Amino acid sequence: MSDRENWFVGELERRGVSRREFLGFCTAMTSMLALPASLSARVAEAIQRAEKPILVWLEFQDCAGNTESFLRAGRPTVAEIVLDVLSVDYHETIMAAAGAQAEEALQKVVGDRKGHYLAVVEGSIPTFENGAYCTIGGKAAIDIAREVCGGAAATIAMGTCAAYGGLPAAAPNPTGALSVRDAIPGLRNLVNMPACPANAENITALLVHYLTFKDWPPLDEYGRPLFAYGHLIHDNCERRGHYEAGQYVEAWGDEGHRAGYCLYKMGCKGPVTSQNCPRVRWNSGTNWPIGCGHPCLGCAEPDFWDKMTPFYSHLPGPPFLGPGYTVDRVGVAASVGVAAAFATHGLISFLKRSREKPEPAPAAPQPPDSKKGATL
Ligand code: SF4
Ligand code: SF4
Repeated sequence: MSDRENWFVGELERRGVSRREFLGFCTAMTSMLALPASLSARVAEAIQRAEKPILVWLEFQDCAGNTESFLRAGRPTVAEIVLDVLSVDYHETIMAAAGAQAEEALQKVVGDRKGHYLAVVEGSIPTFENGAYCTIGGKAAIDIAREVCGGAAATIAMGTCAAYGGLPAAAPNPTGALSVRDAIPGLRNLVNMPACPANAENITALLVHYLTFKDWPPLDEYGRPLFAYGHLIHDNCERRGHYEAGQYVEAWGDEGHRAGYCLYKMGCKGPVTSQNCPRVRWNSGTNWPIGCGHPCLGCAEPDFWDKMTPFYSHLPGPPFLGPGYTVDRVGVAASVGVAAAFATHGLISFLKRSREKPEPAPAAPQPPDSKKGATL
């Protein structure tokens, strides 16, 4: 057994994790990454044998929410060990060093390990006034990002601000905030992990994939891993049956809300948002927003601060829906209403799937105000 494997087995024992639990974790990760079950042994082997990849975590115009999420990885014991596989050489929030010492640590990685470290960017990058809105150690964020990401083996844009610009880029965008992709055009090996914040389970799975294959999993047109962003919230939502049946929450705390009805009319953006929240959930799988009665705000989609607001108003509907409209058509029509405002692949998938869906039985109940359209 190599030193590395010895260390790993020792860590499992020290933290009271059985071999069975570890293998169960690898199977769960394999399934989450949508890999064939037969690859779970390879995942286990890679985690045990992998050289510690060096991680440099940059924070720019952010709230540190993704850092919080990263530090609270689910399945604590096993995931913690997997994350311990990483050598986090620079992370302003969690590193002991500060000031010149911290800057030296960063320069050492960038200088000595060029092409052999992973860069993570959290937060958007301001570009107005030569980047003066965010400087660290006297250097503009944009210059730091160019240098660090440019020399990295691969970069993760962590969270909605790094992936799309997020809240700092919301109109009127006073700092000229950009996503990593827009601030450093042509950056190679970039993967976007949007959401506010990115889910620790997805971060763990992404890193497990990288440890196993030294590459990112397949991505969508927004550079997001398909395993986490390949399906609409609406497609896997536990309240979908109520949507189909025309059973909607009409007011906070009403009978429908207490019965777990669909939150579409309370502003749910699940029909146009892609992420695996219904399956992975949050807080170690305890629950998720819709599960506890709150609509999805669409945080994993581009420009959600501008395009998904007002958060508690439902997707724009057509002016009139005749009596022949089915519940599904109401959803499609409402989603078409937002197409002019933002074109997401979620919307396209939703329309595609809606077209593929057979018509509901004629006796299916209509949405309560279908005759007036989908407005409240
Ligand atoms: S509209 Fe929202 S609450 Fe209703 S089924 Fe779709 S995702 Fe679930
Ligand atoms: S349910 Fe919607 S708003 Fe909530 S985390 Fe998931 S994508 Fe974001």
